[in-house]
Amino acid sequence: MSEPIPHDVGGQDECEHAIIHLYEFLDSEMTAADEQHMRDHLAHCAPCLAELSAEELVKRLVRRSCAERAPEALRLRIRTALIVQTTD
Ligand SMILES: [Zn+2]
Repeated sequence: MSEPIPHDVGGQDECEHAIIHLYEFLDSEMTAADEQHMRDHLAHCAPCLAELSAEELVKRLVRRSCAERAPEALRLRIRTALIVQTTD
């Protein structure tokens, strides 16, 4: 994994779209076509995938602790950790 993955494979709009609809994707509230589009983008866009992974992890932790939502500090810590790992 030495080759850096550019963020703009699908264009800036693709990333913007992915981030905006991240929660719909996580909550399976997308149409099948939109979901496939999202999967295609995440498959080649590491920053968006990191963003998704961070949100998914937060969601899981929140669900496990039965809290309404993760504390802001925890969210930030997870996101920062994941984003630092996948970018240089
Ligand atoms: Zn992207």
